[in-house]
Amino acid sequence: MTRVRFAPSPTGRLHVGNARAAILNWLFAHQTGGSFLLRLDDTDRARSTVEFAQGIEADLAWLGLTHDAFARQSDRFPIYAAAAERLKAAGRLYPAYETPEELDRRRARQRARGLPPIYDRAALKLTGDERARLEAEGRTPHWRFKLNGAPVRWTDLIRGPVEIDTATLSDPVLIREDGAFLYTLPSVVDDADLAISHVIRGEDHVVNTAAQIEIFQALGAAVPEFAHYPMILDVDGGPLSKRLGSLGLADLAGQDIDPMALNSLMAKIGTSDPVEPRRTLAELAAEFAFSKIGHAPARLDPEDLRRLTVKLLHMKPYDEVAAAVPGGEAFWLAIRDNLESLDDAAGWWRAVSEPLEPLAADPAVLAAAAALLPSGDLGEAAWGPWTKAVSAATGKKGRELFLPLRLALTGRDHGPEMKKLLPFIGRERALARLGGQRA
Ligand code: GLU
Repeated sequence: MTRVRFAPSPTGRLHVGNARAAILNWLFAHQTGGSFLLRLDDTDRARSTVEFAQGIEADLAWLGLTHDAFARQSDRFPIYAAAAERLKAAGRLYPAYETPEELDRRRARQRARGLPPIYDRAALKLTGDERARLEAEGRTPHWRFKLNGAPVRWTDLIRGPVEIDTATLSDPVLIREDGAFLYTLPSVVDDADLAISHVIRGEDHVVNTAAQIEIFQALGAAVPEFAHYPMILDVDGGPLSKRLGSLGLADLAGQDIDPMALNSLMAKIGTSDPVEPRRTLAELAAEFAFSKIGHAPARLDPEDLRRLTVKLLHMKPYDEVAAAVPGGEAFWLAIRDNLESLDDAAGWWRAVSEPLEPLAADPAVLAAAAALLPSGDLGEAAWGPWTKAVSAATGKKGRELFLPLRLALTGRDHGPEMKKLLPFIGRERALARLGGQRA
């Protein structure tokens, strides 16, 4: 059974970057009939808030990404403490007493000698007496995981075979001086305990993965599958992080971005599929494949969200917009392809159904149009033969023919196709407007 998790830290609201992690996990879960866990990584007690946690749930609800299970790391500290005890007993978690300043100095010395700035494990050489003396001085240890210092290999579902030699890494700190768990251990313990089958996350976690695989193994837990997708960059190739402030989900919702525009973009960006809107998550789930995700960073153009939102508007069936659109289904189908926003629909209904001041335009065209207006019902098919006849009578073509008609008939210089509006304007009103009357 596939089981994935989306694991944001409630230290802020979600932005497009987090949304991508959420969507890819959700799509994979739904494609495989698996389940999607929302896990709040709130080990950082100082920065995590209940308001952000609620905000994240609201952001996910806006996207329609429902979760099947929920966990909060702050509820699970005893489980992490028990795992830490097991690692200590196995000799894989050791106390270290260096201050940040001492570590900085040591790294500077290593660099000066042309050595990689890897933690030298000085703490492992401390005798019991030395440790007791340090603690008597009032130092409390932080705790480091002792890496194997050997190649860790996995077949990444996006990147293919990956090998990272943990001899090139510092032993990661799992527990701080103040006893707080950093992200690394709780994440592994939860992934194991909550039976996560696939960890799908950004490639900024690839190095963590090597250390985390060693922790899974040290705890005797099954190692999940991993899929690391490339980062998203700004349109000009810079890091997206600077823009994330304006790419928060709450802001996008406030700008009337369609949540399916964001879902579609995040599902397709950086993949071999074209970035096209999909109306449902089910369609996106059916099209999801790790093999479609490219290895190069994707570039995000926020304008695409607007473009996709407009395209989705043009695809909306009437029942989804009925509350906001007067004039009934036929009118909606006549105008939707030309709308920039849903709000414009009511204005077009007024333009065809309520008196308006026609805009002055070439009188010869308008006079011919009034004289040649077919009798009887003005269906969509009336427009073509009528305007052809007006063209023949006046010698006007293209813009010189169509713009005067549009100005007189709608009071505007742009909008939905005239052949579709004409039936709603009707004969009487059309004749009056062509004659320059308010009608
Ligand atoms: N809270 C972590 C983050 O947001 C989760 C990373 C992961 O998926 O393991 O980076």
